[in-house]
Amino acid sequence: MDEVRTYWLPSDWAEAIQQKMLSSTQGNKAFHLWAVEVESLNVLLRGSEFHLTEDHLRFHLESHMHPDLTAEYRLTGTRREKQFRAWLDLVRLLDEKRIHDAAKIDAALRKKPFQPSRSANTTASSSKVPDGRACTRPPALTVEERQLLCDNSGCFKCRRLFQNHTTHNCPNDFPDAKNYKALTAADVEAARKKRAKPVAAVVEEEPAAKRARITEVDDDMDTIAVVMPSAALGDGTDSGEDTD
Ligand SMILES: [Zn+2]
Repeated sequence: MDEVRTYWLPSDWAEAIQQKMLSSTQGNKAFHLWAVEVESLNVLLRGSEFHLTEDHLRFHLESHMHPDLTAEYRLTGTRREKQFRAWLDLVRLLDEKRIHDAAKIDAALRKKPFQPSRSANTTASSSKVPDGRACTRPPALTVEERQLLCDNSGCFKCRRLFQNHTTHNCPNDFPDAKNYKALTAADVEAARKKRAKPVAAVVEEEPAAKRARITEVDDDMDTIAVVMPSAALGDGTDSGEDTD
């Protein structure tokens, strides 16, 4: 070993290695891996004036460990352990606990930001839909869109106007999120015109009995239009109620 040092290492190598040792910190490593690293550097210095004693090594490890580990270390009686190896082992155990706790906190934090967006997109009728599909839903209704739907017998789910169904019994899918454009008054006018023509034509040709039935349906629609806002809001659509 002495020969290798003489031949291959620059003359100030010992000082450089000691510098490297004394400037190292635990960082995000596990304590025992870092301690092994520091110790193996110290082994290279054996026999030189730069070799650190166990006390010195311990002092370095103590003062450059992970801040969270320092906090734990101060709370426990670990520093009272005089024997270096036993001390290393106690600190290793403390550090393993720190890593375990940090992983738990990390997992909890990762979970949280997920929930609001999931619940915002989830309705009672589609809570079984996998997350992947839920993400393709259109954005939540704006106040204006809600008002237009309320005023024009619209459905909060499929967002079509002049429907005789509500969010509860909507037979349609959500609108395609990719091509979704927020509803405007112009859409209401277009839907009104579209609806007026075919219905008028059909009524013209229908026998009296059927016409009567259509009129009934129309009456129902008016009722639904009045009932709908509170019913749809109570459903939890877009209001954050999670059935999971
Ligand atoms: Zn609908």
